[in-house]
Amino acid sequence: MNTASISGLVLAGGRGTRMGTVDKGLQPFGGSTMVAQVLDRLRPQVAGVAINANQNLEAYGAFGVPVWPDDTPGFAGPLAGLEAGLRRCATPYLLSAPCDSPFLPPDLAARLLQGLQEAGADLALAVTEENGLRQPHPVFCIVKSSKVDVLSAYLAAGGRRMDGWYPQIKVAEVLFEDAAAFRNINTRDELQSLDPAGSPVSAPRLADVVSCLSAYDPDALPVRDAQRIIRDFVAPLRATEQVALRAALGRVLAADITSPIDVPAHDNSAMDGYALRGADLSPDAELRLRVIDTVYAGRTSGAVPGPGECVRIMTGGVMPAGCDSVVPQEFVTEHEGVMIMAPGTIRAGDNRRLAGEDLKAGSAALRKGKVIRPADLGLLASLGVAEVPVRRRLRVAFFSTGDELRSIGQPLDEGCVYDSNRYTIYGMLTRLGCDIIDMGVVRDDPQALEDALVDACENADAIITSGGVSVGAADYTKQIMAKLGDVTFWKIGMRPGRPLAFGRIASRGHSAFLFGLPGNPVAVMVSFYFFAREALLRMMGAEAPLPLLKARSVAPIRKKPGRTEYQRGVLSRGADGQPEVKITGSQGSGILRSMSEANCMVVLQDEQGSVQAGEMVDVLMFEGLI
Ligand code: AMP
Ligand code: MG
Repeated sequence: MNTASISGLVLAGGRGTRMGTVDKGLQPFGGSTMVAQVLDRLRPQVAGVAINANQNLEAYGAFGVPVWPDDTPGFAGPLAGLEAGLRRCATPYLLSAPCDSPFLPPDLAARLLQGLQEAGADLALAVTEENGLRQPHPVFCIVKSSKVDVLSAYLAAGGRRMDGWYPQIKVAEVLFEDAAAFRNINTRDELQSLDPAGSPVSAPRLADVVSCLSAYDPDALPVRDAQRIIRDFVAPLRATEQVALRAALGRVLAADITSPIDVPAHDNSAMDGYALRGADLSPDAELRLRVIDTVYAGRTSGAVPGPGECVRIMTGGVMPAGCDSVVPQEFVTEHEGVMIMAPGTIRAGDNRRLAGEDLKAGSAALRKGKVIRPADLGLLASLGVAEVPVRRRLRVAFFSTGDELRSIGQPLDEGCVYDSNRYTIYGMLTRLGCDIIDMGVVRDDPQALEDALVDACENADAIITSGGVSVGAADYTKQIMAKLGDVTFWKIGMRPGRPLAFGRIASRGHSAFLFGLPGNPVAVMVSFYFFAREALLRMMGAEAPLPLLKARSVAPIRKKPGRTEYQRGVLSRGADGQPEVKITGSQGSGILRSMSEANCMVVLQDEQGSVQAGEMVDVLMFEGLI
């Protein structure tokens, strides 16, 4: 299916009266909110998503997608939302789903589009059969964007019924078997009784997730598809804790922080100088003002300068009443209590910080999902916040597999290598802020592997292994991982790092996500950064997309289209001051030295061919990467 031709629209524009006039989409559900669940389900099916909402626009905007209110006024119903979406839709088709349908089918877009095309229709809607009765679900529909004018004319004539404009277009119905997938939540009771939060039942199966992909071939899976499946499969941990401000560094914020105060609390001076009334400034005459008082940082002055008067003020001093400008002291002279300033030195309003210019009381200072950095600690401190709600740390168990591996301190027998993967993995997990469980080296032995996986699964949220998943490796790895849960084996269109095992295993009521990384030391790091990292961050509830930059390639790079290649590079400033990148020595997938010498990875995308010298390429910096 061609997801690129479809945009998704979540209809959240209603008044939500049955919930007691709360905004339905923003109600907590499944560990997030209803609208977040719907967005998560729609995203893999379409090119992009947007929300139609008529209130709490800022809260909806926080999901990082466009928010479009109705153009037709007066809460005119879902059809008005559809109109707002169609007017802004940049693709040939628009798919709509209501914000209270967190169980919508993973193949909604694909099947509706197919139905529309087969019938040569303008609109296709979902129907189900319940007790032999055909039940249409008109808000779950796909529409040709070109039909917007027909819809607008219907609305302008006062039409409001979802199916009222059907006589003017060609409509197809698509039968879905799973009626439960179209359940919507209308009341608080339904919200509570249907909320899967806390119960593992909500977890999708890999088969459901991969069914969203148009052409799924585990033996030739594009990087992008693997990333998408992983993203859709893992779910955030729900547990949170309250920690002291300093302990929040590097942790994931679990709730929005609203500023309790204006920062700064008062208008104040940005300079050491003289506070004056802008009205006294003259464009062509020298200004002489009598200094009537002095204000120090953090102090206020009772003085109220009149015309021809000013107040000496220090940086951070509260602006005296009536003053709106500050002239820095180095631009003026003071003689016998009079400040003298040349014409044109400043303009009215200069060097004054306004109350609330940093943050207004009641506005969102930090959004949940943020990984807290030093600036955030400072910001929180400036609000007087002493404790911060954060997500519980993710517990990640990891081990290496291979009979040839020796641990540091052991003699290196002939043909053996020291286990280095456990150290790179340790480093990468620690930087992500995970709690780690280092399980050492596991022999190439089915029972040992099974025991290690079971142990890891019962003690950790996620498991990372290295080695043993490549072609030719003992087949029991697959059998054991598959026996313990829902695990798939991929050959990914990438270099280095083709093989990857991914899924979830379970034992005695515990479950953990599993990443079986390849064995080669560089392949391990690449697979970690490009697959495991985002998944682990998502489990941690963090928003931290990979920060890819663009840089000019110094030399040509050979590359075949049809797979993603990752090359180790050194990024620096070119002679013209622009960033440029040079590939480091040997790129063999076992050669850690060139990884260590590199400060970045050059990402040569799937469809890309060879790169000419001077061409721009994507780059992922290692420093600053959490
Ligand atoms: P495998 O995927 O198990 O076939 O391993 C592929 C290659 O990576 C082999 O040359 C292994 O010796 C090497 N390798 C696997 N695990 C590690 C490790 N933990 N440290 C260093 N090299 C490893
Ligand atoms: Mg091995």
